[in-house]
Amino acid sequence: VKQSGRNNYKFVTPSLQKEADERLSVQHGLHDALNRDLFELFYQPQINFITQAVSGAEALIRWQKPNSGLVYPDDFITISEESGLIVPIGTWVLEEACRQISSWNTHKKQLISFISVNMSVRQFQQKNFISEMQRIMLNHNIQPQQLELELTESILIHNLDETKRKLFELREMGIRLAIDDFGTGYSSLQYLKNLPIDVIKIDQSFINDILLDVNDRAIVQTIISLAKNLNLWVVAEGVVNQEQYEFLKEKGCDSYQGYYYSKPMPMAELLGVIQDKNSE
Ligand code: C2E
Ligand code: CA
Ligand code: CA
Ligand code: CA
Repeated sequence: VKQSGRNNYKFVTPSLQKEADERLSVQHGLHDALNRDLFELFYQPQINFITQAVSGAEALIRWQKPNSGLVYPDDFITISEESGLIVPIGTWVLEEACRQISSWNTHKKQLISFISVNMSVRQFQQKNFISEMQRIMLNHNIQPQQLELELTESILIHNLDETKRKLFELREMGIRLAIDDFGTGYSSLQYLKNLPIDVIKIDQSFINDILLDVNDRAIVQTIISLAKNLNLWVVAEGVVNQEQYEFLKEKGCDSYQGYYYSKPMPMAELLGVIQDKNSE
């Protein structure tokens, strides 16, 4: 709010005011959610095209907002980035994913070999990000190969030298690194050449129209062969039907995510789905 003197608001239209109020109320809600443990992780499996087995699962945050039901990340991640709340939220996500892995380890029950976690720019830029990572992994006694971090291209362009140093430290620790939403950002091939990337996730916008749009088809095929030639693992996102599935399989894509196999859901439910599919 631009305040110039007592009770004298200038240049603030009612709609801007409303927007600011809403933002504030979401921020309060997010604080509340952190304090009262109202976030939850849903998981979406990644299926290996060759073995048909679930290899990993992506953790996706949800907010159980009192009296409003489930709130999806598109409605609060941007605001939490802007306010800095993404840092404690991101730490919570990492901790929660590691708790999940840790419970598999203690019960010697692991259907899913890794969990991948979405990173935000602010979170990744924290000075102590690497030591936090080490602390969390040590704390939960998890193996580095049980964790994958998803980085968007916007993370990679910020502070390239610093980012590069951190990525090599993570690689040294044994954590797998994926580029998320590949193709939508700056997509400099320099990143693939100079950074220790293991996985490319093809953005779902390219997969959506793969059957109708020759350009999308060409782009997807090119990304797959690029990945193969660079020895990277390639995952297709947003696969919703058998035709897309067949196309990607034929082109040599390594694994896929999407409603065709399963929506994101709480881990207990997901394990049931996987078991049902395995016994089909
Ligand atoms: P994303 O990382 O690209 O995640 C994929 C999104 O696509 C998820 O939306 C997922 O539910 C949705 N999806 C999966 N399969 C399909 C499909 O077959 N069709 C369609 N139409 N959609 C599909 P979601 O869970 O709403 O998350 C949205 C975005 O929020 C994520 O996009 C990610 O950027 C962000 N996000 C989610 N969880 C976290 C988190 O813990 N930390 C951070 N920093 N960002 C997160
Ligand atoms: Ca992601
Ligand atoms: Ca994505
Ligand atoms: Ca996205």
